[in-house]
Amino acid sequence: MNSVQLAESRVGLVRGAYVDGGWAQSVGGNIRVITCPADGTHVADIAECIAADAEAAVDSARRAFDDGGWPASSEKERGRILLRTADLLERDKAVYAKAEALDTGKRYIEAEYDIDDVVACFRYYGGVAGTDAGRVIDTGVPGAISRIVHVPVGVCGLITPWNYPLLQASWKVAPALLAGNTFVLKPSELTPSTSILLMDTLREAGVPAGVANLATGSGPEVGAVLSSDPRVDLVSFTGGLATGKRIMETAASTVKRVALELGGKNPNIVFADSDREAAIDNALTAVFLHSGQVCSAGTRLIVEESIHDEFVTELARRAQKIRLGGPFDDRAQTGPLISSAHRSKVHAYVQAGIAEGARLLCGGFIPDAAPLAEGSYYPPTILDGCHSAMGVVQEESFGPVLTVETFTTEQEAIRLANDTIYGLAGAVWTGDASRAQRVAQALRHGTVWINDYHPYVPQAEWGGFGQSGNGRELGLQGLAEYRETKHIWQNINPGPSHWFEPSAAGEQP
Ligand code: NDP
Repeated sequence: MNSVQLAESRVGLVRGAYVDGGWAQSVGGNIRVITCPADGTHVADIAECIAADAEAAVDSARRAFDDGGWPASSEKERGRILLRTADLLERDKAVYAKAEALDTGKRYIEAEYDIDDVVACFRYYGGVAGTDAGRVIDTGVPGAISRIVHVPVGVCGLITPWNYPLLQASWKVAPALLAGNTFVLKPSELTPSTSILLMDTLREAGVPAGVANLATGSGPEVGAVLSSDPRVDLVSFTGGLATGKRIMETAASTVKRVALELGGKNPNIVFADSDREAAIDNALTAVFLHSGQVCSAGTRLIVEESIHDEFVTELARRAQKIRLGGPFDDRAQTGPLISSAHRSKVHAYVQAGIAEGARLLCGGFIPDAAPLAEGSYYPPTILDGCHSAMGVVQEESFGPVLTVETFTTEQEAIRLANDTIYGLAGAVWTGDASRAQRVAQALRHGTVWINDYHPYVPQAEWGGFGQSGNGRELGLQGLAEYRETKHIWQNINPGPSHWFEPSAAGEQP
């Protein structure tokens, strides 16, 4: 049975813990039913792992790291396995995209784009293999050879969210494997299907047993083991700020390496001299793509006062026309939120914003008519007349909610854009090339787009300033997160140093 057949047979089957290169029953014996947020249809039954399953997965990863050949294998060979993984993902793209679309409710075509990006990530790190063997130091000491080399960190706990389940996993899994680590992956309990599929793809690509492990289940149960277990050397987490803080605290007790990719309240600055059509069109995708469930979503429109009325009126007109629908609705332009619980949270933010004085221009309600009433949909929502002291401007709702602020000077635009505890991403729209560079330099955010929004490439580092996290994913720095740096010194002409030889003057009787 090849991995396509395996993958297809898996939909609806119970999988949960992948340990030592095989599927294991969950110790607790519980099952979680995964349903599609677009309409509540049954997607899969997943074994709900508990702490004991996570511990078994950590044990497997530890043994594979300490006793197996993976960490010492050639990086070129590991790179070849990543390239083979990319080929297999491409071959099985339809199976992966379907599973991702059903778990998340996103449009099938968007899920296909996501899998393309996953493939690109594996290809990038596969291509990087063998290009950086460390460096030789000129010590100035005759007969000494001094080398800086990279070695794997060890066992990695990888914890991922539900918005881009396999993409976020690939940003961790690909560099972790290239660097020679072993890992335990814990996907969101809401969207585990593609992470489950990935385990079989990695096995088919040649990843040895015990190197890649998976434990499904909840964060407080399974994720907590990955941040507390002393056998785990590094925990890499993508998710919300509160969970990130908790993980950092827990990981401190064993001084693990911690990499956090957290949320954002990302500014989208529009100057009056920008290309109006491009700025309006991209302001919509900036915030409403995937119904705002994007960490880098441009949720704060900061628009020059002189064009505010015209710009925002047109934006609201177009936002109201965005068509919501399920993964296989050809006319849909965006999908549902991940759950009705999450929608309630988003709606509460909107109501709080209105109570704070924001003016609702569109959206702001829970659809109660079929077919949208069957899923956890929320319409594109725009709140005008906002200012940065408002909770709705400062706190991440992770939904399709845009707040609008105005400015009159470049300095004010920069000040507003940086007035956040986060610092993940932002954009500036202007026809003035010098101003574009000045503003981009001044923004305290990890990614800044000029006259664009959202594009990224696996060669470029991704991560946040401030409370958007620490460390970087993607790019060479995304690989460095999974490497220890070691200094190896060799004296090629060893001899006594005479340090403790009694000197003639101070000789003891
Ligand atoms: P959460 O923080 O709720 O969860 C993320 C992951 O952490 C899930 O797998 C979750 O498990 C797990 N988790 C929860 N509690 C613990 C714990 N105590 N110990 C260890 N793991 C735990 O985030 P969401 O899934 O709700 O994702 C949305 C958030 O992620 C948003 O704030 C968004 O900004 C951020 N995000 C950031 C990205 C970035 O690149 N910076 C990218 C994508 C999202 P479970 O839910 O299964 O119980």
